[in-house]
Amino acid sequence: MKQKYMQISLGKEIRARAKRDLFYICTIVLILSCISLIAKVDLFEQLYFFSRQHELWEMDEITLIVFWFGLGGIFYAYRRMQDLRDLLHEVSDKAFFDQVSQLPNRAYSLECLTQMIHRAERLECQVAVIFIDLNNFKMVNDTYGHAKGDLLLQVFGERLRYTIRKSDIVGRLGGDEYLVLLELKDEDELAPVLERIKSLQEESYRLDENDLALRFSAGVAIYPHDGYTAADLLKASDIAMYHSKVTKRGQIELYTSGMAEILYARYQLESDLKTALQNKTFHMAYQPQLSLKNEQIIGYEALIRWELKGKLIPTAQLIQIAEDTGHIEEIGLWALYQALEDAQSFLQADQRLGVNITSRHFWMSDFVSQIQQALSAHEFPPHRLVLELTESALVCDIFDDIREKLTELRALGVHIAIDDFGIGYSCLGRLKDLPISCLKIDQVFTRALVDSERDRYVISTLIHMAKHLNLSILAEGVESKEQLALLHQIGCHMAQGYYIGKPASLATLVERMKSSSGL
Ligand code: C2E
Ligand code: CA
Ligand code: CA
Repeated sequence: MKQKYMQISLGKEIRARAKRDLFYICTIVLILSCISLIAKVDLFEQLYFFSRQHELWEMDEITLIVFWFGLGGIFYAYRRMQDLRDLLHEVSDKAFFDQVSQLPNRAYSLECLTQMIHRAERLECQVAVIFIDLNNFKMVNDTYGHAKGDLLLQVFGERLRYTIRKSDIVGRLGGDEYLVLLELKDEDELAPVLERIKSLQEESYRLDENDLALRFSAGVAIYPHDGYTAADLLKASDIAMYHSKVTKRGQIELYTSGMAEILYARYQLESDLKTALQNKTFHMAYQPQLSLKNEQIIGYEALIRWELKGKLIPTAQLIQIAEDTGHIEEIGLWALYQALEDAQSFLQADQRLGVNITSRHFWMSDFVSQIQQALSAHEFPPHRLVLELTESALVCDIFDDIREKLTELRALGVHIAIDDFGIGYSCLGRLKDLPISCLKIDQVFTRALVDSERDRYVISTLIHMAKHLNLSILAEGVESKEQLALLHQIGCHMAQGYYIGKPASLATLVERMKSSSGL
């Protein structure tokens, strides 16, 4: 059932006009009555006298007919008023409510916010504006279809509604964006509501036999601290939401004035990225991977690099922006094609090439055919390509689809490695059913290897389990001789890290090859 919302302005106008008309009519009737009283009009006597004199005119019947017409007119007017009310109801429903979630739409939410601001001004209280944006919602639409996506949006809206009081407002701004408006008599009232909203992320939604989790980013702006108008508060909450999206996913951020500057720098970086994509001003670096069995370099991991105005942008930041702006597929494909091309100049016949793939790119429906095309474009043997995926790419709601994709890749001959293993969901039970070749243990374990007995135990247990599952293990981030020796001792298969070799450009690798072959 819909919330009882504030009166819409058109409805208010009609009601005011009705009151005005009633007042005018009453006044006119009163004046006419006074005149009749003063003039002592003997209307009834005259009518009676007239009807007596004109007996043949059937005055009784005429009066009755006039009376019936009057009554019919009143009934007709009443029915039309009912029609008008229904029409108004329908029009306002369409104009002010979102048809998917039945929540107030953008225009009406902002109107409600304006009214709440006026009220807060009078009562000297505060209004909190919470901007919520669902993460990765496009994937839900792409995977389950728009009808199911709409259903999910509706259920999320309903659950959001239950986190607040009846007098507060939840609106849908459009797409996957919601707005929550709270009247705060006391600042302490905000934290419990934010906690309840945040906890919605732990709930699951059942879609096509799958339990889906909905994650979101949210930002809060408060009247009067962060703005005096609905537009200003919406903008501030949007900035805080965006900040939450690019920094700490899943956190609800309170707006601060410094956020705008950070975002400006980020917008700048985004537009620089677009230019870099057009001009393809990235390059690839390659880091060697060592076999601990025979001390040979068995392959290289391709790592993208972006130099902007003479400064290297941290790769993790580049990948994050590319993901947020929807360019990750383009960048991922560029890196894959470039790595396959570069490999022809430095990769030896018995060495493998590792290429990083983000979850979002992997989830694309034509991912397998993209890989197939890239391999045939460079005539690269599939068994020498290792795609590095993080566990998050596999631990998701479309597990069967993922298994199918991995099986197709494996059938092609391509190997799959699980990147950053150990820091994510770490569900070996789930991985055992998938055609995976290698686990890359995250550098946090390698770093703690020397000092921590526990981490040494974790890695050696992992190695035992991996051997059992027919997987090979590569330790990432090896920075010292000691770490390498320990890894050797506990039976790790491969290692990668600054101690073995830092990521190097193609030119450096080719140079090294030339000098080692004595050319
Ligand atoms: P990753 O896949 O875990 O890559 C390893 C990262 O650790 C690289 O950082 C590498 O330079 C760094 N590293 C290697 N050895 C050591 C070491 O001994 N000590 C320390 N402290 N760090 C070491 P980088 O190049 O900044 O890449 C960061 C992340 O960005 C990568 O993490 C990967 O997830 C992503 N990435 C890099 N290149 C690509 C790419 O071409 N495509 C995609 N999709 N993601 C990429
Ligand atoms: Ca990697
Ligand atoms: Ca890694």
